[in-house]
Amino acid sequence: MTRLSKNFTVEEMACPLTGECKLQEGWIELLQALRTRCEFPFRIVAGGGCRSLEFNKSIKGAAPNSFHLIGNKKYGTDTCAIDIATKNNSERTLIGFYAKEMGLSVIVYPAHIHVDARTAFAGLPAFHSTGKYEK
Ligand SMILES: [Zn+2]
Repeated sequence: MTRLSKNFTVEEMACPLTGECKLQEGWIELLQALRTRCEFPFRIVAGGGCRSLEFNKSIKGAAPNSFHLIGNKKYGTDTCAIDIATKNNSERTLIGFYAKEMGLSVIVYPAHIHVDARTAFAGLPAFHSTGKYEK
C-alpha cells in the first residue's frame, strides 16, 4: 500500500485497467482537505479515481473528456475527479456542502457523489448537479 496522503492510497486511486495513478498536481491536497472536513471514511468507487483513456472508453456513459482521465488533452490536466460511494443522504449532503464551499464541482448520483476540481485546474465554472451523467 502506497500512501498519497493521510487517508488516500495509490491502490484505491489507480486506473483498474492499467494500474496507472497520475493525479493533477494539487488534487490530492484538495481531496484530503475535503476528507478531513467530512470526518468519515471515503470509500472510492471502483474506477472512480484515475482512468486511462482506454478504461474511460469502456465505461458506458462516461464523458469523453472526463476529469477522471489521466492525460486529459482537452483540459490539459491529469486526474482531478473522484467518485465517492455514500451510505446515505447525510454523507452526500456533507460532501456536497464542503466541496462546494471549496469551489469544487459536484454531481450527485443515487449511490455515490462525483467531485472534481474543474475550476481550479481547467478554469471552468463550478458545476453542481443531480444529473445522470458527467460533463
Ligand atoms: Zn466521476
